[in-house]
Formats: sequence, C-alpha cells, structure tokens
Amino acid sequence: MDDFSNFNERIIAPEQTGADTDIELSLRPKVLSEYIGQEKVKANLKVYIDAARGRNEALDHVLLYGPPGLGKTTLAGIIANELGVQLRVTSGPAIEKPGDLAALLTNLNEGDVLFIDEVHRLSKSVEEVLYPAMEDFALDIIIGKGPSARSIRLDLPKFTLVGATTRAGQLTAPLRDRFGVIFRLELYTPAELSRIVDRSSGILGIEIDKEGSMEIASRSRGTPRIANRLLRRSRDFAQIMGTGIITGDIARHALERMEIDQLGLDLVDRLLLRAMVENYNGGPVGLDTIAAAIGEEAITIEDVYEPYLMQIGFLGRTPRGRVVTPAGYRHLGLEFPDSARGDTQQKFDI
Ligand code: ADP
Repeated sequence: MDDFSNFNERIIAPEQTGADTDIELSLRPKVLSEYIGQEKVKANLKVYIDAARGRNEALDHVLLYGPPGLGKTTLAGIIANELGVQLRVTSGPAIEKPGDLAALLTNLNEGDVLFIDEVHRLSKSVEEVLYPAMEDFALDIIIGKGPSARSIRLDLPKFTLVGATTRAGQLTAPLRDRFGVIFRLELYTPAELSRIVDRSSGILGIEIDKEGSMEIASRSRGTPRIANRLLRRSRDFAQIMGTGIITGDIARHALERMEIDQLGLDLVDRLLLRAMVENYNGGPVGLDTIAAAIGEEAITIEDVYEPYLMQIGFLGRTPRGRVVTPAGYRHLGLEFPDSARGDTQQKFDI
C-alpha cells in the first residue's frame, strides 16, 4: 500500500508502458472502418487515400498531432494498410545522425509509409536531410572533405512521411510547411470510448455489460490507451471479486481502488488543482511554478494533464498563467473565492 501513488500514476499515464505493447498490437484497428471516432479526420483521410490510390501516387505527407494515446500510431498503420504499402516505424530521438535517416530512406519502396513518432525531436542536421527528401524525393550526399568535397543527389522512391507529435508548436516552420495534410486528433467522447472498450473486450474475450463499459469510458480522460488499460485492470477485479463479468458495480469498485474519480481524475490531477488553489489562490500561475510545486515535469503537465483538465473546464489559460475555474473548485468540494475572480472572470465570463 505504501507505493500506491506510483502504481496509480502508471495506470493513468497515457504514454505507452512496456506492459502495453503486445496487447496494444492486438487491439490496434487495422482499417479505417475499425477506427472509432475522429470522424472529420477519417472522412478527409479517406478522400485523400482514395484519390492517391486512384492516381497511383504516394499520399502527400501527413502530420498528426494531439496528446499521447489518441491513436496517432494506429492511424499511421491504417494509412499504410489502406494504401496497400509497407509501414516503417521510427521516432525523432531514434534517428541520431543524418546517416541513420539516409539509411531508412534508401530502404523504402515506392509508395511506402515512413512513420516518425515525436517528429518535433529530430535534430537540426537530420531535419536538413529530410527537407529535400520530403520535397523532391532526393537525398543530397556530400562526398569528400574540404575544397574537393562535392555533393551528389540520389533519387529516392516516392514515399509518404507520417509524422506524429504531441506538440505541433515545437515543430520548426520549414518542417511543418512540408506536410501537405495536417490533422489534429481530439480527445474522445465517453460514447466513443465506450465503443472502443466494447471492441477491445470482444478481442480480449472479456465479458462486460453496458454500464461497466460506460463507467470505464467516462473515466478514461478522453484517451483510448487509458480506456484499454482500465478495462484490463477492471477485468482483474471482476475475476477476483465478482463473477468475471465487468458490471457497473465492479467497474466503479475497481476505479475507486485505483483512486480514479468519476471524471477520470487521478491523484496527480487533484494534487495539481489543489496546489494551485491552496498555494496560489487558484492562479494565475505559471506552468513552471506549478511543476515545481507538485514535482512533475512542466512538459508532462502540458502534454498529459492539462489537455483533459482544460477540456472538462477545470483549468484555463490566461495571458498571465493558468487558473482553476469555478467548476474546478466545485470538483474539489471548495467554494470559488471572490478574490480569485479577477483573471478568471475575464477569461470565462462568469
Ligand atoms: P498514440 O500514437 O497517439 O500515442 P496509439 O495509436 O498508440 O496512440 O493508440 C493507443 C491504443 O489506443 C492503440 O493500441 C489502440 O488499441 C487504441 N486506439 C487508439 N485510437 C483508437 C480508435 N480510434 N479506435 C479504436 N482503438 C483505438
């Protein structure tokens, strides 16, 4: 029991953990029609894929952005599948030198999809190799050193780069401009997540009723990866404490034991809101200050905690920093103080 908070953080973290990998593979939708939600993205993507196929051309480069666990990697796999080409997977930090990227690019076949996760973390020298590759499907190689050095241009197969990032703002402008298609993935609604939970239950052979599925869905912070993880943990509780079927009661019990509240907030979310209220009168307070107060990285707060707290209207951004909204206060069982009205009022018109 002493290390329960860490345990809990792991459960709710939308980043992939080692334990997820195999199961995630089996749960990943393979075709567009299996991909639940993100309707606008799907509809447009279908047009672009069909058009590229019709012309027998590679699809234009695609940038996917949004918080972790929303289905960016899954979508890259689907794009390759729907185009009937191979998918190569890598990530920004994994491509250390320009030569690593050159090796990847020269091994592609015509039309292939190259997926680069965390594309905002490419180094400058690697990015420079990527520009002509994306634009002209060419690789400029320098041979020799000093005055006798010369550059030769190698043709590459026409490929599609699918880049994923949690932070589109950190992409350099020249890189961003080279993506012909840019999609922002949105947090999922509870109804969509419930369909994802039902689909995953079917694949994993888990019995769950409608109420159980809705309970998990509404506490998954809009994120399929979290929904799938809470589903697996709830199955354990159903097996040990019930009949093996995840009912509403079993799901509620499981989530309570994991200290995840009705809205899907975990200990860290509550700690964050509470620290802002108790130490900074509800804000405005800067991101780094919040990070220091609760001992989390600013980047984690921005990527993982904030999007959901903002989506449910508990946290707002003002020019002077983050503020806890009246709804955030209410959720903590606290009254919104008159002294906190200033900035919050301007922003939220309350
Ligand atoms: P990201 O790359 O954005 O971090 P992933 O593509 O790895 O997210 O998705 C995490 C998991 O969530 C996948 O294994 C998949 O099972 C599930 N998932 C994501 N999006 C969907 C969706 N639209 N429909 C069904 N399952 C999904």
